This record gives sequence, C-alpha cells and structure tokens, in this order.
Amino acid sequence: MFPLRRVGSKILEQWRAPVVAAKVHKNYSSDVVTPQPLSVLTEDELAMKDTIRKLATEQIAPLVKKMEDEHRIDDSIRQLLFDNGLMGIETPTEYSGSGCGFLTMMLVVEELSRVDPAVAAYVDIHNTLVNSLFMKLGTEEQKQKYLTKLCTEYAGSFCLTEPSSGSDAFALKTVAKKDGEHYVISGSKMWISNSDVAGVFLVMANADPSKGYKGITCFIVERDTPGLSVAKPETKLGIRASGTCMVHFDNVRVHESSILGEYGKGYKYAAGFLNEGRIGIASQMIGLCQGCMDATIPYTLERKQFGKSIYSFQGISYQIAHLQTQLEAARLLTYNAARLKEHNMSFVKEAAMAKYYASEIAQKLTSKCIDFMGGVGFTRDFPQEKFFRDAKIGTIYEGTSNMQLQTIAKLIEKEYSQ
Ligand SMILES: Cc1cc2nc3c(=O)[nH]c(=O)nc-3n(C[C@H](O)[C@H](O)[C@H](O)COP(=O)(O)OP(=O)(O)OC[C@H]3O[C@@H](n4cnc5c(N)ncnc54)[C@H](O)[C@@H]3O)c2cc1C
Repeated sequence: MFPLRRVGSKILEQWRAPVVAAKVHKNYSSDVVTPQPLSVLTEDELAMKDTIRKLATEQIAPLVKKMEDEHRIDDSIRQLLFDNGLMGIETPTEYSGSGCGFLTMMLVVEELSRVDPAVAAYVDIHNTLVNSLFMKLGTEEQKQKYLTKLCTEYAGSFCLTEPSSGSDAFALKTVAKKDGEHYVISGSKMWISNSDVAGVFLVMANADPSKGYKGITCFIVERDTPGLSVAKPETKLGIRASGTCMVHFDNVRVHESSILGEYGKGYKYAAGFLNEGRIGIASQMIGLCQGCMDATIPYTLERKQFGKSIYSFQGISYQIAHLQTQLEAARLLTYNAARLKEHNMSFVKEAAMAKYYASEIAQKLTSKCIDFMGGVGFTRDFPQEKFFRDAKIGTIYEGTSNMQLQTIAKLIEKEYSQ
C-alpha cells in the first residue's frame, strides 16, 4: 500500500486525483477486447500507409524542388491526389470519397509529409477543416452539391483568421449583413491555405455583431461569387508550394441557404474542428521528422572522419537515439489523440499535447539533422534545410504553441478543480 495517509502533509491532505482517467475508462465497455498497442495498425491502415509511401516516393518526390521554386503545387500532383482518393479520405463513398477512418487520414498526412510537408498541408487542411465540416454539418443538398466536387474536382479553404485577429480568432471583423433572403459579406481573411486554387470557401463572418462571438456564422462561398477576390500568394519561409493568400470579400452576396450548420454557431464549429485539425498538424510534423531522419541516418553511417563512420562517435549516435525517442513519443501522442477521436472519446487535451510536442521537437530534430550533415546539410542539394524551414509552421498555424499550452493548462486546472 502506498503510505499516503501516514504522510499527512498539508499538500497531501489537499491532494485530489484528477477524474479524467476514470472518465476515459468508463467509455470502454467491459466486453471490449484488450486495446492494441498504439503502434499496431490494422491491415487496412497498414496497406494505406504503404500505398501512400510508394506514391509519395515515386511520384511526388521528383517534383518537390520544382514546386518549392514555383511556389505552387503542380497540377499533375493535384490530379494525382484526386485520382487516388486523397481529397476525400474520410468522406463516405456515396459522395465519391474513400470512406476511411480518422487515423488512416492521419497516416496519409504523415506519409505525404515524409516527402513534402507542403503537399501534406494541402491535403490535411482540405480534409480536416473543409470536408469534415461539410460531412458533419451539411444538409443533404449541401453534401450532394459540394462533397462530391471536393473529392473529385477542387480544393476547399477554411477562412477564420484576419489581419487583426489570429490567436484571438473570435474577435474577427468580417460581417454578414442580412438583406431579405440573402447575406452580404464584407471583410478580409488572411493566411488562407489552398485559397490560390480553392473552388469553395468556408467563411466565418459575424451575422450579428451585437451578440459578440455568438453572432459568428459559417457561410459557404463559391470562388466565382462576385466580390470575392484572392490576392497573390505570400512568399513564405517554408511549405512554399502550399498557396497561402489573403481573401477579400467586397459585398459578397450569398443566399441564406449557404449557411453551413446553424446560424450563430460558427465559433463552436471553428473551435471544435480545429481541435481535430491539430492532430493533422501533429501528423505533418512527425512525418516531416521521419523524412528528415531517413535522409540523415544513412549519411552518418557512410560519412567517414578520423577513419570511422561519424555514426560510430557517441556524440552523434546518442543524439540520434535521443531524437528518435522523442519522435516515437510524438508519434504515440498523435496516434493516441487520433484513436480517441475515432472512438468518439474526449481528445481535446491529447490533440493539443500532440500538436505542441510534435511541432516543438520538429524544430529541434530538423536543426540537429543539419548539424549531423555538416556543410552539405546547409545546402539546397540535400532535403534537411527544407524540412527545417517547413517545420517552423508547426508552432504557428491551427493555434500557436502558446495557445496549445493554454488549452492544456485550462484542462488540467478543470481536472483538479472538480
Ligand atoms: C502558412 C500559414 C497558413 C495558415 N492557414 C490558415 C488557414 O487556412 N485558415 C485560417 O483561418 N488561418 C490560417 N493561418 C493563420 C494561423 O492560424 C495564425 O497565423 C495563427 O493562429 C496565429 O495568429 P497570428 O499570426 O495572428 O499571431 P498572433 O495571434 O498575433 O500571435 C503572435 C504571438 O503572440 C502569442 N500570443 C497571442 N496571444 C497570446 C496569449 N493569450 N498568451 C500567450 N501568448 C499569446 C502567440 O503564441 C504568438 O507567439 C495560417 C497561417 C500561416 C502562417
């Protein structure tokens, strides 16, 4: 027995166990078989992972440099993603999707990121922040109209951030004014991924500013709607091929049937779906780390200095062992968050932890890999410098590292205050 009662200190008198673990266990029914280790994938998941690894290595890798230089995803790669069902991974087959599970979607993002985190961002944001909202909130008519096209024809964009509202997202200023059966949207969105090519935009706009954030509503806006304009893509440090632009709405008129979900619930949808999206960013980061390691370790085994492979120096191999351990921890956090989400269990804290940890270690791991490569790691002839630049976005989009810590801290406080 743990001698808790005998200690009797003030702190221990006040000691209260958090109730979270008990809650999670309650969700398991007693007839469920012993859960599998997190690193064990189903046959279907493994098959998908292997297929995407092959596709990424054989068909995407040869174009990575070109896409990076041209600041756009090649048309042939975008078509490849549609043709292989990667633009509707979770979308049911009746809407031309692939009908896979959430973890499978994360494995796809991981494998694409191993080769090009920019292509992975395109697929991830489209799937987790656009398809998911349509799937869960759309009327049958909206699903028929948009989901099929999102799986086969065009990408979608999620428009929340504005020049003056980033982390404080619900302070947004874009408004949607009611005019008969229509709404007239005015404002500007910033940093909108996929907006260079998107065919449809999910736009968070305030339909009743007097209600504060409770007026925020999600509107479906098609690209060719008069008044919608997309600025030229930003020149970025990393994920350069992923198009990130400002999107302007100058009296954009949409019918009231263009509301996705319920009027005034936009803030709830944005917060909720970004929780899922964060697992996607964690997957992007672990895939990127794996790609960087896979490009670096063989070099350290082959490169000789002082008559030996540089891997044989503990100064190198112990650091690699340390980083691989951190990568494995990040992967387990990510798969755990994804499995919780897939089983409809609470996953908000786990998703924030996965995104926070995976993106923080990605900064360190990619930087260290450049060190292990020496001078050549500092050139564009090797992939480490791109992974290093691409890793930086992980601590910024879909909630900065500080915002993840804020979420985790709030949930810890709640657990210990019940
Ligand atoms: C490449 C890229 C793609 C993106 N794609 C999309 C997209 O598709 N759709 C979309 O809507 N948005 C998108 N974004 C926007 C992204 O989500 C925001 O950039 C992000 O949320 C941070 O907002 P901000 O840039 O305004 O930074 P700010 O909110 O101004 O933050 C600046 C710094 O202050 C810190 N900070 C802010 N508030 C606090 C606080 N309360 N406590 C402690 N620290 C704090 C932050 O952590 C950060 O370090 C994208 C951004 C980039 C760069």
